[in-house]
Amino acid sequence: VLRLESVRKTYGRGTVVLREVDLAVPPHTVTTLIGASGSGKSTLLRCANLLEEIDDGAIFLDGAEITDPRADVDAVRRRIGVVFQAYNLFPHMTVLDNITLAPRRVHGVPRAEAEARAHELLERLGLGGRAGEYPDRLSGGQQQRVAIVRALAGRPRLLLLDEITAALDPELVGEVLGVVRDLKEDGMTMVIATHEMGFAREVADQVCFLDGGVVLERGTPEQVFGDPQHDRTRQFLQRII
Ligand code: ATP
Ligand code: MG
Repeated sequence: VLRLESVRKTYGRGTVVLREVDLAVPPHTVTTLIGASGSGKSTLLRCANLLEEIDDGAIFLDGAEITDPRADVDAVRRRIGVVFQAYNLFPHMTVLDNITLAPRRVHGVPRAEAEARAHELLERLGLGGRAGEYPDRLSGGQQQRVAIVRALAGRPRLLLLDEITAALDPELVGEVLGVVRDLKEDGMTMVIATHEMGFAREVADQVCFLDGGVVLERGTPEQVFGDPQHDRTRQFLQRII
């Protein structure tokens, strides 16, 4: 579904944040990105969603190059759902309006259709009956689930999740991770940056360890967590677990 080839990203005066990053995300698989703070996980996700321009290399979505200057950025973003650490819900809009805003305004989906889809997803993520609430009436876990519903509303090909539990109280983390497990069961293709190592191991088909903007190690969870090949990976895992 997603492929990165020799992606290079620098900020400002030549700070290299990603160098020669290759990544292949097959359909219906989950890739988790692990690595120290500043290793480039968020930057990789932002490049994949064209929120950042890359300096070199290429990114492909379903075989078409999306980093081609002629690519339709809106069309690409429509096919990629993103959820970040901060839920970024609009506080003055109901849950339903938060979810249906982009489909209706940007993608021209008729209101009835957008709302039917929203209700169906809310039900699926355990939020049936919450459509009329304002975000501040919901817990952090519920708000984050609404953000996931919003990302799913446009029926994306791919979901990018960046530290979606980092801002949550510990007792709320489980409900959000449960939703991600369910999405995996449904065959959703996902790339997930996370500091939750237990989760990164459990949910992944492929784990990538980033170190200083390089994918230093990749493999199945068993390989990367059970038998890391690089000292840096071992050190990181020892510090974390
Ligand atoms: P964390 O685990 O803390 O979320 P990360 O792996 O997601 O870290 P990134 O946010 O991708 O790391 O950052 C990688 C590097 O890029 C860091 O050194 C950071 O300081 C730098 N960086 C990120 N965004 C910008 C920006 N807009 N301008 C300049 N430098 C940036
Ligand atoms: Mg990050």
